[in-house]
Amino acid sequence: MASDPAPSTGGAGLTGGGSAAAGAAEPADATDPALGPVRPGQPTPGAVGRVGPGAAEGLAELDGTGRRQRHELWMRRALQVAVTGPEPAGPGPTADDVPVGAVVYGPGGVELAVGRNERELTGDPTAHAEVLALRRAAERLGRWRLDDCTLVVTLEPCTMCAGAIVLARIPTVVFGAWEPKTGAAGSLWDVLRDRRLNHRPEVYGGVLEAENSAVLRAFFR
Ligand SMILES: [Zn+2]
Repeated sequence: MASDPAPSTGGAGLTGGGSAAAGAAEPADATDPALGPVRPGQPTPGAVGRVGPGAAEGLAELDGTGRRQRHELWMRRALQVAVTGPEPAGPGPTADDVPVGAVVYGPGGVELAVGRNERELTGDPTAHAEVLALRRAAERLGRWRLDDCTLVVTLEPCTMCAGAIVLARIPTVVFGAWEPKTGAAGSLWDVLRDRRLNHRPEVYGGVLEAENSAVLRAFFR
């Protein structure tokens, strides 16, 4: 008896019960952007900054706030490398090189290696901060597989560096300023989270973004 008009009340409910339906439908729509398909040319900024396990970077015990504080601390070191160069006693940054700094941290947060963009200094098109830091970290550990390390860099990695990060099996990437023109971690491409690749690091973008952007803006001014 009551089951007979069910289809019609269902239809009426969809049109008439808008307010009730909105509240009920919301959880079903709230999908994790990281789980959605990665489309070429389509950034997935929603996935950046999501809270991950953090076990590989020794942060499993930390909550979201503790992890963010650690990332900011590490980013300040990368920023220092960007501004002053890898070593205070070294050749120092050239006036021509874009100030980008990268640091590789090992398990437990030990600093393994740093790199600063040296493209102009060395005339090497691949001498980006990330590549140099990855090379030095691998050299120090005596292995190419850096699957227990975290890469921290002041600027969103380009396609080359994102490729190197994937090849090194880096599990966690923390970057500062977004780079809409060449960024390959969500801006222009999303190499780091491309589901077609079998290795996809956790990515935390926009860490100390204002400070990092200010350094770059000052350079280009
Ligand atoms: Zn690069």
